[in-house]
Amino acid sequence: QPVVAVVGRPNVGKSTLVNRIIGRRQAVVEDVPGVTRDRVPYDAQWNGRTFTVVDTGGWEPDAKDRAAAIAAQAETAVVTADVVIFVVDAMVGATDVDEAAVKMLRRSAKPVILVANKTDNTAIEMEATSLWSLGLGEPYPVSALHGRGSGELLDAILDALPDAPKIVENRPRGPRRVALVGRPNVGKSSLLNRFSGEERAVVDAVAGTTVDPVDSLVEIGGETWQLVDTAGLRKRVGKASGTEYYASLRTAGAIEAAEVAVVLLDSHEPISEQDQRILTMVVEAGRALVIVFNKWDLVDADRRYYLDKEIDRELRRIPWAIRLNLSAQTGRAVDKLAPALRRALASWETRVPTAQLNQWLTALVQATPHPVRGGRAPKILFATQAGVSPPRFVLFTTAPLDAGYQRFVERKLREEFGFEGSPVEISVRPRK
Ligand code: GDP
Repeated sequence: QPVVAVVGRPNVGKSTLVNRIIGRRQAVVEDVPGVTRDRVPYDAQWNGRTFTVVDTGGWEPDAKDRAAAIAAQAETAVVTADVVIFVVDAMVGATDVDEAAVKMLRRSAKPVILVANKTDNTAIEMEATSLWSLGLGEPYPVSALHGRGSGELLDAILDALPDAPKIVENRPRGPRRVALVGRPNVGKSSLLNRFSGEERAVVDAVAGTTVDPVDSLVEIGGETWQLVDTAGLRKRVGKASGTEYYASLRTAGAIEAAEVAVVLLDSHEPISEQDQRILTMVVEAGRALVIVFNKWDLVDADRRYYLDKEIDRELRRIPWAIRLNLSAQTGRAVDKLAPALRRALASWETRVPTAQLNQWLTALVQATPHPVRGGRAPKILFATQAGVSPPRFVLFTTAPLDAGYQRFVERKLREEFGFEGSPVEISVRPRK
């Protein structure tokens, strides 16, 4: 989602303008000179497009001079935003502080929209035209308070936004794509055969969808799923068909083609390097993950003890994976598979509203700020969710974060919002 930053001196009416843009009387605090206001993002919508508005109202109360403070603020906006709205008070005109900020803004390649706020009537509108002198192009005369000119401004914002990503047409809601993977002999075919009775010919595919002939449409838990690349599992043309290299390529291809991967492990054997490689493929491809501990019927108390230790050690980096203790042979817990797949996919597609995300983040960094490093502590300014499948978050910060602190944020993010069964990507964009 594109980010629009609102920049300007204290008291030019930035918060009123933000309220106007988001179309709500939200608790955006008014400018009070000398008071730091945090940079708070809000979701906005106009003509069917959504974007994030960041009110960059905050400035450091201890800043030596206001020109430096606003330059720093503009800098943040420039780094983090796709479009910058520069607000000037039309009744006051351009001040030297405004001009300093404009210099900074013009050095960036970001589109800047100049707003002449407090243009409450035509007389002031005449005055506002003098703001052409700032060299930012046509000033948009707006009265944030009364709404005058705000429609034109919103149109201008949409024009300046980067091209809307093509709406990935929600696949003709065909079956969800699942990869059934694991090293040889873990029981993939056995598990697939559990669903055989309900298997349908691939040619029955939901009208309009193409199903690769190597895929199978299978009914699991009352729903049809597309198991990708099951050809090899069906016709067992001699167990040792193909080298391990080709088997691994095939596994990677299946994971790539799937939305959720079911990785089978043999519970009565140690978790092997090959198992690890397959799990890594899933995580790196950013797919939802369900780990099936198959052959659970062979697990006794003794094995269970060692398995628990192995899990602690070997699966430490993916505590979020959904785990099932299952037996393809006896049918134990086979009915748990569909709910697990659905849960993992729901997490994979979760979108956290920007306001909710930042409320949580603000509380988190207040309770546990980043440790001080070389006399300073990097600050997280705000966060947005950049995408789904899997959920991707961007943290805008004043400086790079320690790896440990970033892991802490991810752990807390998961505690708050779940994401069970899905990887989550967090990237950090430090202000330069
Ligand atoms: P694949 O290579 O992953 O497709 O594994 P197969 O499905 O061919 O299974 C390998 C062997 O493990 C076969 O002898 C199966 O009968 C056996 N097997 C599969 N699942 C289970 C299970 O849940 N319990 C037990 N005891 N044996 C199983």
